[in-house]
Amino acid sequence: MIITNANVITWEKPNRIIEDQAIYIEGGRIKEIGAGDELIQRYPDDERINAHSQYVMPGSICAHTHFYGAYSRGLNIPGAPAENFTEILEKLWWPLDKSLSREAVRFSALVCLLDAIQHGTTTLVDHHASPNAIPNSLDEIAAAVDSAGIRASLCYEVTDRNGAAGARAGIDENIRFINLIKSGSDSDGRLSAMFGLHASLTLSEETLDACREATPEDVGFHIHVAEDVADEEDCLEKYHTWVVDRLSHHDLLGPKSLVVHAVHIDELETQILKDTHTWVTHQPRSNMNNGVGLPKVEAMLESGIKVCLGNDGFSNGMWDEWKACYLAHKLVNHDPRRMPASTIAQMAIYNNAGLAKMLFPKISLGAITPGAEADLIFVDYQPFTPVTADNLPWHIVFGFQDSMVTGTMVAGKVLMKDRQVLSLDEEKINYAARQLAPGVWKKFNKSFHKRSRRDTDDGG
Ligand SMILES: [Zn+2]
Repeated sequence: MIITNANVITWEKPNRIIEDQAIYIEGGRIKEIGAGDELIQRYPDDERINAHSQYVMPGSICAHTHFYGAYSRGLNIPGAPAENFTEILEKLWWPLDKSLSREAVRFSALVCLLDAIQHGTTTLVDHHASPNAIPNSLDEIAAAVDSAGIRASLCYEVTDRNGAAGARAGIDENIRFINLIKSGSDSDGRLSAMFGLHASLTLSEETLDACREATPEDVGFHIHVAEDVADEEDCLEKYHTWVVDRLSHHDLLGPKSLVVHAVHIDELETQILKDTHTWVTHQPRSNMNNGVGLPKVEAMLESGIKVCLGNDGFSNGMWDEWKACYLAHKLVNHDPRRMPASTIAQMAIYNNAGLAKMLFPKISLGAITPGAEADLIFVDYQPFTPVTADNLPWHIVFGFQDSMVTGTMVAGKVLMKDRQVLSLDEEKINYAARQLAPGVWKKFNKSFHKRSRRDTDDGG
């Protein structure tokens, strides 16, 4: 296949923007980038896609998301609004994840995948929870990812909040799926597995040990860390140590592990993350929404920690996350010099590509260069000022819109063309998901009120 008339943003390091180029793709990989007539002359029988002078760039990568959260959209949470992070978990996410059947898990994933294809995100790192449908839940998501045609790393969130049997089932689901991926039955290498953990505040010593013991050495952990100060306070009170220290003590950190948020870690914890070469991912929209504060991302990056960018279940276009990131750190620090767009590019482009390389070691993602996977997007951006490799990050923050993505391709397969999703039936999926919503919300209300009654009983 040859893509012609493309303004190519390579996102190599250093980045290059090359106008009026053609990209020759073979076996799902980029083979050559060069002049259109030359490539057409050499491969005259190949299928051609005319980019019509749109930007063609690598698909976005999302370092942390929750496909399971889609049914929160428009959900009415009864009673008084959640006052703090712990209440957000108790009043929203925990009753919601309990309301998901296997079918709802599938459709929750499918609507997120549709959103990702439409807005140019081609690889996502998911963290799943469905306590009333644990066994094989990752297969439901894997099947959705397979049909969507994109790439994803999956894991199940182990927690003690649903009792010992729930924790055990979560461990088993992770290990079952890790073994499945290791056995090679993984949708042409588009799936990857991590071991999922909720957060220190819902994990006992015994469960952490059991998780470590069950997990092969070459598989990393994906866990929320110090998202709110409550996680650190809980850890200090119960275990007389800090969250990162605790995880390090249980041997859960390292170059394959991914720590999510790290808002409230201190300097020593930062040092441990650096020394263990643990990945960290930043989700500014989620941090703002939960009112938990912002992590010291720039200091972490400066110290050498590989900080990535995720969406934590927010809309799956990553440029919205760039924009939130750009603004949030300036506001919170009362300093317009903070978080330049080039720093966001370091996280969202280069570090996310590094994370993807760790998760998909056999392939190269995140750049348009010979040998890399043809995971590409077409962007209809008509700039009225020059776009250069240097100023591109600021064009993304101030000019790009996720809705400017008109085409999406993964491994050379066209998933969306001229804004028409080809791999999934958008109308059918949205219809079926909508049909399921009232049932999910009904269960949510039941679960919510059961929780309130229990709280009242405990309180009395
Ligand atoms: Zn999360």
